[in-house]
Amino acid sequence: MATRSNLYKREPAARLSVRPLPTTMERSSLDPQSSAEWDEFRAQAHLMLDDMLQYTQELRQRPVWQPIPDSLRQQFREPLPHHAADLAGLHETFMQSILPYAAGNAHPGFMGWVHGGGTPVGMLAEMLAAGLNANLGGRDQVPIEVEKQVLQWVAEIFGFPQSASGIFVSGTSMANFIGVLVARTKTLGPVVRQQGLEGKSLVAYTSAAAHGSVVQAMELSGMGADALRRIPVNSEFQIDLAALERAIEQDVNKGLSPFLIIASAGTVDTGSIDDLDRLADIAARHKLWLHIDGAFGALAMLNPQLAPLLNGIQRADSIAFDFHKWGQVPYAAGFILVRDAQAHLDTFASTATYLRREAKGMSAGSPWPCDFGPELSRGFMALKTWFTLKTYGVDKIGDMIGKTCQLAQYLRQRIDAAPELELLAPVALNIVCFRYRCSYDNSLADRVNMQIVTGLHESGVAAPSSTTIHGKFAIRAAIVNHRTERQDIDALVDRVIALGKSTINTVQSRGAKI
Ligand SMILES: *Cc1c(COP(=O)(O)O)cnc(C)c1O
Repeated sequence: MATRSNLYKREPAARLSVRPLPTTMERSSLDPQSSAEWDEFRAQAHLMLDDMLQYTQELRQRPVWQPIPDSLRQQFREPLPHHAADLAGLHETFMQSILPYAAGNAHPGFMGWVHGGGTPVGMLAEMLAAGLNANLGGRDQVPIEVEKQVLQWVAEIFGFPQSASGIFVSGTSMANFIGVLVARTKTLGPVVRQQGLEGKSLVAYTSAAAHGSVVQAMELSGMGADALRRIPVNSEFQIDLAALERAIEQDVNKGLSPFLIIASAGTVDTGSIDDLDRLADIAARHKLWLHIDGAFGALAMLNPQLAPLLNGIQRADSIAFDFHKWGQVPYAAGFILVRDAQAHLDTFASTATYLRREAKGMSAGSPWPCDFGPELSRGFMALKTWFTLKTYGVDKIGDMIGKTCQLAQYLRQRIDAAPELELLAPVALNIVCFRYRCSYDNSLADRVNMQIVTGLHESGVAAPSSTTIHGKFAIRAAIVNHRTERQDIDALVDRVIALGKSTINTVQSRGAKI
């Protein structure tokens, strides 16, 4: 049972040998000052905590999302606040004007894009991290040991050696960027940092189903999007291996330098997983770096039934993934794992004098996290992840990941059983793409289904997103949230059918104009 900690009992004031500050300075810090002010602050803090616990407990009774009234938007167009406002009043504004109008990804009915639900444990850990206000760029401190502990667990999850390197980053977009940069350094040597690409024509390969952040990583790295070959996918939306090998050979014959394959472990559209083992063979044969974008899918490794789908991931050179999606850690918590720690260091480590390391004192502990990425100041993302993995245990997180995939299969069954609905892509993991049938007119079907998605959002019942599959507009439900249950799937299906019927009726009564 939780008991009140005695750790923070005050030292008697008499033992502090500092001279009192002049009275005009006394109130200069931003903390509450007198013990009465602290008491008032503490009471307010408990109210804020209780409100968020209640919000989480009663989430299901709220709409997933609701449209933002114009007048409310106007509340956030105020001039710069020069003077103090009351914390209790601002908390009230948060409760009335901010909390109800978020995207709603904590809600069990949220099924759009790929968003995690967060947990109350993660929320509390965020509070502890913010209270400590640790900067994890470097220096000899236990918060960095916590991050290294998580790195060690990550290496174990993916079957990487304990010598692997890795850091937390804001998300997989940043992690993919780092993966591309390390692969570039490994290929051209650390000299690339001084001399740039020097006209070398490096070429990378990914599938047509890869995430936009993969293309962006090539743009940002200076190699350019044209240096990324988008290889077609097969009927399971996996990279076509024969087409990949042909493209590599063609580029070699042209005198270009293939250097990198970026595989997808869970594509954003359909959740398909490339054949990672065969990709590792191809990468080995052509001496290419194998980076895996496993933004949400990589953590399927925590589920023994799903892990075989990712076979070969243990052979990758680098893996990008998020704890904030299937891992349910609150935003933001992405991760980059690299097998070759030296190549990783060679890409980012700096010799700036103000970052000098020593063997002892606070400047010990080299290398620091800032040696493994472009960010110097970094938050304590490791703490909420450490708390989440320890509190629940990874087996339970693996079970929850399995449950979301079972719910996706349940949704597929309901679609198969409903004559009004049509499945548009195989259900590899937790993502289901489908639509309301309008057999007589394809462009009308697109518009009807767009209206269904908007109607769902505005209903507050369920919030899928959309995509395009083989040229058809698809309703896309990604079941990522640990709170989603069968009743949420039923509510989605029932509402899609009802909205489909009413939209078609409107079209017919208005003569095919919507
Ligand atoms: C979400 C996602 C990304 C981007 O990750 P962020 O954490 O949003 O930066 C990249 N790839 C895939 C497959 C994703 O699902």
